[in-house]
Amino acid sequence: MKWSELLLPTLKETPAEAEAISHILMIRAGLIRKLTSGVYSYLPLGFRVLKKVEDIIRQEMNDKGAQEVLLPAIQPAELWMRSGRFEALGEDMITFTDRHKKLNVLGPTHEEVITSLVKNEVSSYRQLPLIIYQIQTKFRDEARPRFGVMRSREFIMKDAYSFDRDWEGLDKSYQKMYDAYCRIFNRCGLKFLPVEADTGMMGGDTSHEFMVLAENGEDRIARCKKCNYAASMTKAECVLPDIPLRAQASGQILDSREIEKMKTPGVSSVRDVAEFLKVTSEKLIKTILYEKDGKPVAILVRGDHDVNETKLTHVLKTNQLVMADEKMIKNITKGPMGFSGPVGLKGVEIIADLSLKQGENWIIGANEADTHFKNVNIGRDFEVLHWADVRNITESDTCPKCNESIEISSAIEAGHVFKLGTKYTDSLEADILDEKGKSSRIIMGCYGIGVTRIVAACIEQNYDDHGIIWPIEICPFQAVVMPLNPDHDASIAEAQKIYNQLQDAGIEVLFDDRNVRAGIKFKDADLIGFPIQIIIGEKSLAQNLIEMKVRNTDDRSKIKSGEVLNAVLQNIKNLYKNNK
Ligand code: ATP
Ligand code: MG
Repeated sequence: MKWSELLLPTLKETPAEAEAISHILMIRAGLIRKLTSGVYSYLPLGFRVLKKVEDIIRQEMNDKGAQEVLLPAIQPAELWMRSGRFEALGEDMITFTDRHKKLNVLGPTHEEVITSLVKNEVSSYRQLPLIIYQIQTKFRDEARPRFGVMRSREFIMKDAYSFDRDWEGLDKSYQKMYDAYCRIFNRCGLKFLPVEADTGMMGGDTSHEFMVLAENGEDRIARCKKCNYAASMTKAECVLPDIPLRAQASGQILDSREIEKMKTPGVSSVRDVAEFLKVTSEKLIKTILYEKDGKPVAILVRGDHDVNETKLTHVLKTNQLVMADEKMIKNITKGPMGFSGPVGLKGVEIIADLSLKQGENWIIGANEADTHFKNVNIGRDFEVLHWADVRNITESDTCPKCNESIEISSAIEAGHVFKLGTKYTDSLEADILDEKGKSSRIIMGCYGIGVTRIVAACIEQNYDDHGIIWPIEICPFQAVVMPLNPDHDASIAEAQKIYNQLQDAGIEVLFDDRNVRAGIKFKDADLIGFPIQIIIGEKSLAQNLIEMKVRNTDDRSKIKSGEVLNAVLQNIKNLYKNNK
């Protein structure tokens, strides 16, 4: 391919709307262009990368015996209402009413569609197990589309679904997909970690997220510094430190002091109150009010902790949890926002985080403007209805498996696998008959990978000050041939010769035949991140020498013109070897 004939608009400047490095580089390197918020076009180079990622996924899925299909993006809303997810997905769902006044959904995922297909087409245990997948566009009206294709409203996902006659079968299918995912992410050159995850709106009980470690990641993961425990922040379990449970837990307060009201003028945040009272935030209890199915609940966590809403929805067994706003807080506590507390609170369920079992003489909001209580003790001054783990893990916590220290890192969720069980086969009544003619529910698993997100995630892990450094398996072209002086006929002829040679040998090569300065060619080649650059300069050529640069090591060498092909082949081989 000749550069002059390619739609490859590179940019020198950082685009104003891009925050994440991958977003900036994907625009600057001419891979994508934005159409509207969270919606992108893939230009030829971006499309080539995307296709390579898809191919890797396809190969690995096929290798595990999964079968490719293509399911419709337009889906009747009625199907989603039957599974109960129309409500659960809420505003994320993109819908339209057709000319027959029927409500439709643009598929955000395909559990409902595939289950209804399998229900109709599979009736005997002999037809199982089955793993079906597709690579298709998904639509989600994300609350905050950001970071380019990382969190977009229209994106490509590989989604797979397994159908088994029993739970042992599901375990096997799940393991197959888990293994395929590890291979896919490895081949895409990603440093990743499978972590235990919450099953969320998908349902089911076991799930793993495949997390790509990256500073810009929107997710947080907790991992043990010693054992192999790793979990997403929403899931990671908090355990009480191994010190004797004091005070409230044993029903006695060791250092009981009189509860006292005190003025905290103008300070309401934990940090400000702690600073004002010259104590650490661990001495405070935060009271966060929610409305659950129309009823108020108060959640208590230590001042230095944060509520984990995922854990909370499990504890409260609801999907309808709304954090109270100013008006609601006033209604519930009769006091202003920022000064809420459980003492004297009537008609409100109080849920306390387990960590509050350790400690006493707490500082707590008094449901009055500019006022807090000190020396509050649980059991004496107010009652807790329910104790539970409802907070996020921190680096001060210990591993729930082995008690060693925990490390928290940022990550990008690139894939997610679930053991769904019968959630969808129950709602659609998808059954099979066994050997004895007895009917039983089909057991399902589902497995998603963000194809477009992988491209962005890969750049987040593979770049330098000059641009992208593509892992060899998903680079848009393996090599670029750059004659530096477009007016020097011998350079052009040599470049053409090498280009033809590489092309004939099956190497994906781009010929930078543009009539631009050498500096621009160098900069663009680094920006786009071709793994190998073949540089043809006038002076070197006079000595029959060609320069070769390997992008990821910045290794430069001069080689004889006739040896270029072999050198390129050797380098590609090494790059593949190191990618594994
Ligand atoms: P997130 O928590 O990031 O919103 P999710 O849990 O909603 O992701 P799934 O429903 O499990 O995602 O979808 C499977 C995969 O699809 C994800 O692991 C991710 O790689 C990708 N994905 C999900 N939402 C988006 C999006 N808005 N843009 C791009 N890729 C996405
Ligand atoms: Mg999501």
